[in-house]
Amino acid sequence: MKLLVAETAGFCWGVRRALDQAVDLTKKTDGPVYTYGPLIHNSQVLDELEAQEIYAVEGLEQADGGTILVRAHGVRPEVIDALRRRSDNVFDATCPLVRRVQKALAAYTDKGYETVIVGDDKHAEVVGLRGYTRDRCYVVADETEVDKLPSFDRVCVVAQTTRDDRTFERVVARIHDKANEVRAINTICEPTRDHQTETIELAHRADLMVVVGGRHSANTARLVKLARDEGARVLHVETDAEIGPEQFAGCETVAVTAGASTPEWMINRVVTKIRSYSPEARSTVRTWLSHVSSLIVASNGYVAAGAAALTLACVKLIDPYATAPQGLPLIAVAAFFVHAMHAVNRYMERSPYSGWGTFSPRGYQRFQTVMMLLGVGALAVVLGLSAWVGPLPFIVVLVSGALGLLYTVKIIPLRWARHLWGVRRIKDLPASRDFSVAWGWTLVTAVLPVLVLHAPPLRGAMVSLFAFLLVFVRSALLGVRDVQGDRIMGMETIFKVVGKRRTKEVMVALTGALTLLLGAFEWLLGSASLALFLLPVVLYVCFISWLYERRLLPKGPEGELIVDGQFILAGLMTVLWRVFLV
Ligand code: SF4
Repeated sequence: MKLLVAETAGFCWGVRRALDQAVDLTKKTDGPVYTYGPLIHNSQVLDELEAQEIYAVEGLEQADGGTILVRAHGVRPEVIDALRRRSDNVFDATCPLVRRVQKALAAYTDKGYETVIVGDDKHAEVVGLRGYTRDRCYVVADETEVDKLPSFDRVCVVAQTTRDDRTFERVVARIHDKANEVRAINTICEPTRDHQTETIELAHRADLMVVVGGRHSANTARLVKLARDEGARVLHVETDAEIGPEQFAGCETVAVTAGASTPEWMINRVVTKIRSYSPEARSTVRTWLSHVSSLIVASNGYVAAGAAALTLACVKLIDPYATAPQGLPLIAVAAFFVHAMHAVNRYMERSPYSGWGTFSPRGYQRFQTVMMLLGVGALAVVLGLSAWVGPLPFIVVLVSGALGLLYTVKIIPLRWARHLWGVRRIKDLPASRDFSVAWGWTLVTAVLPVLVLHAPPLRGAMVSLFAFLLVFVRSALLGVRDVQGDRIMGMETIFKVVGKRRTKEVMVALTGALTLLLGAFEWLLGSASLALFLLPVVLYVCFISWLYERRLLPKGPEGELIVDGQFILAGLMTVLWRVFLV
């Protein structure tokens, strides 16, 4: 049985941002945090949040005093004002993409336009949006309701962010028949669009479509409807407890997606259970391999080996005749540094609602102390080792380590952050994770060898760019693959900023840049063919992208083994080059 798992399944960016904010608030305020309406329509996640003293309230009277958080859907402007009159601690987690719709409605209302929202009249987001038109707007669910609308002189049409393009376009087409001027602003958000496009695509490919999500989640219900409209057989479940082998009898291809309020650990549990029904899953060799890959990835040993292999390639690109005593300490520093940073950040990023990989939050807690201790041990080793290599390596490691550790720490005071779009940590910056990981790796795998081996400036810059591009590609690939479940060093990936289509364009551009760079080594520097020997690494990156495109890139630790294989290959090609050509 073939299993297809939607890349876009699960928490959207706005929901995760609100959840993060709620969890953060519990750590820096006394007493419970109240959210104005549930943050998410998923009872399992709400239970986890209540265990963290985060409670949902439904009315102003219940939100008297204490810390209050406005959820991603947003609220009417007068509700925010009323909340602020009742409490000094009101925080607004309205999704910026919802805020964009609120602003558009307010602006067009002020210009004297009539407004129409394509959405669900009772949905919290639409209830909030109406407030920005001073209730001078019409709400239609679909094109059949347009006939009930009056004629307009000038009208602005927007969509609830989780609506679908087809409905929006059909409504706009009908409104054109009854208005002199129509300003149509398609405000369906990019994460929703990606999610729906993928659901439709999977619905055509699978015998059975499993949609994981809360029974009260409108977003999940829309995915179920979209898949059914495409003629797919759909199974809507809230938890893995609702599925059994008989539901998959005779299925050749099963697809799994999930609503924007479904945590990744729940998706993974469902996927793991479905996988266990396929005959191949009963193979002991496969089960054993899966356990071994989980262990290697979870211990951060593989990623450390990748950093060592990349450093070897960089050292030889800098100086083809560098000796083992020159190169080995640099390789060891890079390996221990990357190990420590991944272990520490993974620990700091652990979350009550996402866990790690196929582990549930509680499952992760069983391993977190051991992983943290391993990370702290690696940190101590790398500091000692770099000090032994010299003062410069020690300073580079110290500065890089400090930046790495600060990644998740709130360095900007709350009162300033309110004027900085809520940015308090490096992690809060757009695409910060991809840039931070790439920069951190580049410092220890390339910049440090460049400084220690006294590389000429042009060669040093090219080697550093090579490492940066390769690590950035890796980070972006894992970001796209894991989408909302990025468990390594934060959630802020380029994918979240530019969406799926543009991320693919970025990947193509980066792969092209890598190829040109390796070619340039030959032209400009006359390197002894190592650069050309490294070209298979670029081919391997293309191969991983192809696997991803074909949905063959696994989501679990096996996927990380494949993606980080590019570094191992770079090291291997360097060894082969050394053996045969130098
Ligand atoms: S669905 Fe879109 S607009 Fe709504 S919270 Fe998620 S990212 Fe924001």
